[in-house]
Amino acid sequence: MTTAVALRYRFHAARVVATRPVGASLVRVTFGGDDLAGFAGGGRDQSVSLFLPHPGQDAPVVPIAAGEDWYAAWRALDPAVRAVMRSYTIRAQRPDRAEVDVDFVRHGDGGPATRWAGRACPGDPVLLLGPAVADDRSVRFQPPAGADAVLLVADETALPAVGGILDWLPAGTPVRAFVEVPAAADIQPLPTAARAEVTWLVRGGTAPGTGLLADTLRAARLPGATPYAWVAGEAGMVRAVRRHLVGERGLDRRRVTFAGYWRRGASEEDLRAEAATA
Ligand SMILES: Cc1cc2nc3c(=O)[nH]c(=O)nc-3n(C[C@H](O)[C@H](O)[C@H](O)COP(=O)(O)OP(=O)(O)OC[C@H]3O[C@@H](n4cnc5c(N)ncnc54)[C@H](O)[C@@H]3O)c2cc1C
Repeated sequence: MTTAVALRYRFHAARVVATRPVGASLVRVTFGGDDLAGFAGGGRDQSVSLFLPHPGQDAPVVPIAAGEDWYAAWRALDPAVRAVMRSYTIRAQRPDRAEVDVDFVRHGDGGPATRWAGRACPGDPVLLLGPAVADDRSVRFQPPAGADAVLLVADETALPAVGGILDWLPAGTPVRAFVEVPAAADIQPLPTAARAEVTWLVRGGTAPGTGLLADTLRAARLPGATPYAWVAGEAGMVRAVRRHLVGERGLDRRRVTFAGYWRRGASEEDLRAEAATA
């Protein structure tokens, strides 16, 4: 099943091939299917929209026959019927096998995507909206010319992206990464050819997005003379780190990428509704 929704992006039908825990807080879901052979992910923090069925549905309900108007048609459907739409990162891509891996955080606040991942079984169908041709628009990690080092700041939702970025970086690139995770068991190997120093921050029972990363950065040495900084995770954390890097450290904002991946107390639907009225 393949329907063009735009020249460069389209829906890819996929099925769960396997699931396995990654540390204490994430579950890796491997998706496969012939249609994924046409997925042209760019690596790094390549993100996609996943469309997931509700419990009891055989397949995600997305009006892809509406072509480029699919979004308006999807929004017009009953939220209890239309597929759950959520943003995720491609942690790994194996084009030769038409497979991709997505690491889902199993967060305590529930949410339909985290619940779906918790019960996912081989054969379960999803739709993945992503690039059908090489296209960098959904890859935010874009180091500018002249950057001599990379700073990565992430919580667990952006840990898959950190892994993808470290996979992609050229050999010898100086990198400092700060990654906040819920538990020590979430610390994972991050293979890379870059010259990377990774600092793991285990927050334990503390709520996410409460200042651990920003406070740690205040006391930290940044890499290089003209580093490129990439910061992603809970929106409050991203804001605090942005204030520190740009406001207090004076980093040129053209050398910084900030991405709020989620916000405490708001579902992705709430965030889309806010963005639509802004
Ligand atoms: C570009 C991009 C890439 C992303 N990549 C990934 C990824 O690879 N892996 C990943 O796990 N997430 C990723 N996210 C974040 C993910 O989309 C959100 O966490 C999403 O809200 C999860 O959907 P849900 O249905 O589980 O919860 P929702 O229904 O959206 O939210 C329900 C409640 O749970 C809370 N909540 C949402 N996420 C978390 C969390 N992580 N911890 C605690 N509470 C939470 C919300 O604040 C809300 O109160 C990414 C987001 C973006 C924008």
